[in-house]
Amino acid sequence: GGPAAAERTVTTCGYCGVGCSLEVLTRDDQVAAVLPDHNGPVNRGHACVKGRFAHGFLGSPERLTRPLLRRDGRLEPVTWKEALEYIARGLRDAVAAGGPDAVAAISSARATNEENYLAQKFMRVAIGTNNIDNCSRLCHAPSSAGLIAAFGLSGGTDTFDDVETADCLLVVGANPVEAHPVVGARLLQKVLRGTRLIVADPRTVGLARYADVHLRPRPGTNVALFHGLAHTLWAEGLADEEFLRRRADGLPELLDLLTGYPPDRVEALTGVPAEDLVAVARLYGRAERPAIIYGLGVTEHLHGTDGVRALANLAILRGAVGTERGFGINPLRGQNNVQGASDMGALPDILPGYGKVTDPLARARAEHVWGAPVPTRPGMRIPEMFAAARAGTLKALWIMGEDVCATDPDGTRVAEALDACSLVVCQELFLSQTAQRAHVVLPVASWLEKDGTFVNFDRRFQRVRPALTPPGEAKTDFAIVHAMASALDVDLGCRTPAEALAECGRVAPLFAGVSHERLDREGAVAWPCPDSDCPGEAKLYKERFATPDGRAKLAACPYLPPGESPDDHYPVILVTGRRWAHYNSGGMTRRTDNIRLDGTDRLDVHPADAARYGLRDGHPVTVESRRGRATLTVKLSDEMVPGQVFCAFHFPSSGVNILTSAHADTITSCPEYKVTAVRLAPV
Ligand code: SF4
Repeated sequence: GGPAAAERTVTTCGYCGVGCSLEVLTRDDQVAAVLPDHNGPVNRGHACVKGRFAHGFLGSPERLTRPLLRRDGRLEPVTWKEALEYIARGLRDAVAAGGPDAVAAISSARATNEENYLAQKFMRVAIGTNNIDNCSRLCHAPSSAGLIAAFGLSGGTDTFDDVETADCLLVVGANPVEAHPVVGARLLQKVLRGTRLIVADPRTVGLARYADVHLRPRPGTNVALFHGLAHTLWAEGLADEEFLRRRADGLPELLDLLTGYPPDRVEALTGVPAEDLVAVARLYGRAERPAIIYGLGVTEHLHGTDGVRALANLAILRGAVGTERGFGINPLRGQNNVQGASDMGALPDILPGYGKVTDPLARARAEHVWGAPVPTRPGMRIPEMFAAARAGTLKALWIMGEDVCATDPDGTRVAEALDACSLVVCQELFLSQTAQRAHVVLPVASWLEKDGTFVNFDRRFQRVRPALTPPGEAKTDFAIVHAMASALDVDLGCRTPAEALAECGRVAPLFAGVSHERLDREGAVAWPCPDSDCPGEAKLYKERFATPDGRAKLAACPYLPPGESPDDHYPVILVTGRRWAHYNSGGMTRRTDNIRLDGTDRLDVHPADAARYGLRDGHPVTVESRRGRATLTVKLSDEMVPGQVFCAFHFPSSGVNILTSAHADTITSCPEYKVTAVRLAPV
């Protein structure tokens, strides 16, 4: 007979936060094809070069298939039993030496909701600490803090479906054409059909070429830019005073602050011409249904939370949030499940569903369901974990699927932190830079090999279904957390992912109406979804905001300069971000055919800077910051302005994050990846 018929599994892409629904066709436990699902709520039959083609990593010979344990300085294969006994001993020793807070965990925004739920339960119940965080700390923690402060909930204010009705798009600090390609394509399609487009980004990113106005603020000056726009909105009578009276607080304080941000002063602070600023305020202010979409160019700053709040001010002033007019303000989340990891309480101060660990009522709800006390003291954030490890107070660090040595800033200090721990456990697909420093490395299932749910960037729960069997002895993170708990003689309950989500709903009223069974029946469901009759609130705040008094909060936060500025020694600003063919540290995409589309990290340099520093296209360049040095390949690019360079961090061997600084958002500790002062020299 002919080849066996392919099996079809509908699941959710494990790369970016758009959350494309994909049909995975398999034959003999191998991927035959990945097709975009026409019923996908966001992608509607589309997918990008990552979700559709970058699955070759599954069969990579470098895939980890057995647990590894460090003996005499080398990682050697061992049985699961040996690995788990070693971990249990190490965790017990750490707690004996320094109490439960001597243990910390970094959960994974790549893992499912159920895995994140179980991981935070493990830390709180089995260890007795709130020391758990996830990589939202490195990207959209300022979005959570800023949006909660302004509106009451952590998440975009609208569904992406509403963008279809927007008549003006303000895209800030985001490059969706490369980083969220399906969203980028939908935005571009709208623009080509006549929707007005404003792009605010220092680089000429893909959408900028189609913009009515492209603002290019100097990196680190967003807050001044947004205040300049707010100043003009108010000065030109484009604010919705009736909305402000009815539904917002803080106007007098904001107006007082805005007197200091007339367009000419903002031009001096940001480099954005005053007439462009006025043009943008008029475009946004006169639109019937304006939309704000933003990315990490807003959040990854010393004052990232202020940036989110100053941007939210625009939507509030215009009355374009929580009303039929407008599409509010919506972050483009990076990782596939970074929204979900935070929703599930993999955060040091937050329980599942955003109850605070310091709130007795939220704690009591979790304690009732878990039958165990919840620690009251907020735990450490990721940068604090590294500092505590270097100081000797953190003994054991458990890392689920984050290559912190490659992706966290000031990489040399991160490596020092890991080396200072008596136990580092790492769950990984491949022997990442972080795994190479671990004491125990546990082989995990990929997103195509597991069961559960993700939450995408517009708060939709979607099903993740296993299309393949994990290789060798690899296990899901879900199974590993259970196994670690058993090794400590702790029963975490919720034996299956479906049971875990059901239990989460009992702890977190926001998600109480979501279940695997319902998602299988109905497809995606947005949160808040407090009961099974609720369809899910895709658009938020129609009646009232979720703040205690139901009113939105304007923020009068002054502009403050970034953590570091160029000087005579380090005269150029380095900005980092993503490119279209690869994903973050590249652990997966570099092991696929996408490597043929893009095979190296390179430094985008304006021709004027190349001439100034003696650099040539395609030749190596040494990039040096106050913390270290990396070697990249020069790419001449007119997307840059002189004095600024750009690179991705998809090839850890080039050491880009050795350069980046430990300056971090003053409110959330999100690193300032977007402003690093460097100098350039030909190799
Ligand atoms: Fe996957 Fe994002 Fe590409 Fe969609 S846009 S296929 S979610 S990487």
